Amino acid sequence: MAFEGLTERLQKAISGLRRKGKVTDADLRETMREIRLALLEADVNFEVVKTFIKTVRDRAAGTNILEGLNPAQQIVKIVDEELTKMMGEEAVPLNKSPKVPTVIMMAGLQGAGKTTTVGKLALKLKNEQKARPLLIAADIYRPAAIDQLAKLGHDMEIPVFSMGTDVNPREIVKQGLAQAAENKNDYVFIDTAGRLQIDELLMDELADIKTIAQPDEILLVIDAMTGQNAVQTAQGFDQRLDVSGVVLTKLDGDTRGGAALSIRAVTGKPIKFVGQGEKMTDLDVFYPDRMSSRILGMGDMLTLIEKAQRDFDEKQAEEQMQKMKENTFDFNDFIEQLNQVQNMGPLEDIMKMIPGMANNPALKNMNVDPKDLEHIKAIVFSMTPAERENPDLLNPSRRRRLAAGSGRPVVEVNRMIKQFMEMKKMMSGLMNGKMSPQMQNMMN
Ligand code: GDP
Repeated sequence: MAFEGLTERLQKAISGLRRKGKVTDADLRETMREIRLALLEADVNFEVVKTFIKTVRDRAAGTNILEGLNPAQQIVKIVDEELTKMMGEEAVPLNKSPKVPTVIMMAGLQGAGKTTTVGKLALKLKNEQKARPLLIAADIYRPAAIDQLAKLGHDMEIPVFSMGTDVNPREIVKQGLAQAAENKNDYVFIDTAGRLQIDELLMDELADIKTIAQPDEILLVIDAMTGQNAVQTAQGFDQRLDVSGVVLTKLDGDTRGGAALSIRAVTGKPIKFVGQGEKMTDLDVFYPDRMSSRILGMGDMLTLIEKAQRDFDEKQAEEQMQKMKENTFDFNDFIEQLNQVQNMGPLEDIMKMIPGMANNPALKNMNVDPKDLEHIKAIVFSMTPAERENPDLLNPSRRRRLAAGSGRPVVEVNRMIKQFMEMKKMMSGLMNGKMSPQMQNMMN
């Protein structure tokens, strides 16, 4: 998860202030010094840090914060607002052309995630707006780029236009656009070539494609894990192509977060989306305010709720609630719930979206081993349909069979079943408005 170190250091800097009854000028200076170091350590661009610190310090000094109530809280508020500003203030949506199709050209270095992002964005538009995009495969240099796009398109039932690797990308784009016009596609994505470094030939090709396609949006795809290099790359592409937005990929693997924090301030171009995993659904709109809140360890409930809405089937959830209420929740429902939760992403990341949890010591070293969930599933899958529906059938000999079937020790099978039964009882009590003894125990 991104920003781990930064969150911890910022919280430490601010908790130093919290402990003090009265905050002096010197305290403020010390806090600002720590915030500055925290940002530099997170690999935020030096100039960006300088401006940021000056703005926060001026604001804090200008409002008599130190004399007021709760100076620490007010400083957190200023830091939060300025971090949000630094990342661009508001989420910026994809450009849309008044006439069809809206043409979106991708650019970026090889391996940044262009092809993957084309797939993610096209799927998002298809799911959310019932869009009918066409994907043009114009990366003829990277081995397998065309096959990769073709496979993504096939899996998502989205058409891909390609002419192999022997045709000039400029020609491919021309003919692809003609096909989109003919088929009345409402969006066109052009997947272009990348190189390991920016070079003139690549830039010439991209500039020509821009002239030919007249895109409504040029999305620069940048790998967050490359830190300050990412910012330099962004500047290089932007100078030649005048991009309209940035997609920051691999934020899931970027523990520092410098690119996310600097790109907007350095290039002036908005980050529109962030990639947070390899799955086609791992693409999120970039909300500077929510990101700031996360960085400061204040959680991100809005994203959590949206994720839940996206990944949970409402009808299914209602049925499960009803079953809990009637105490008929069985192992089949349990497996469905496990699958839904797993779809939302790593459990520790989800927990951190809950306010106050980010640096909760109990969570700090929590690593929910995906294997544990797989073991639970293996035990359930070893049950007969009758046993799944009626866990009361699970006598000791049946439990031994489950252990053998799942390859897990009998104690683990027993523990899992016991926990399931307790959860079931607790849920049913909760749904019916009364507290079971277990629940009371928990509250105590
Ligand atoms: P391209 O050369 O720019 O087209 O890059 P690709 O789309 O082929 O992506 C390169 C690698 O990065 C692939 O293995 C992708 O699965 C991976 N990738 C892309 N976006 C993300 C992301 O947001 N998170 C993670 N973890 N991996 C990503």
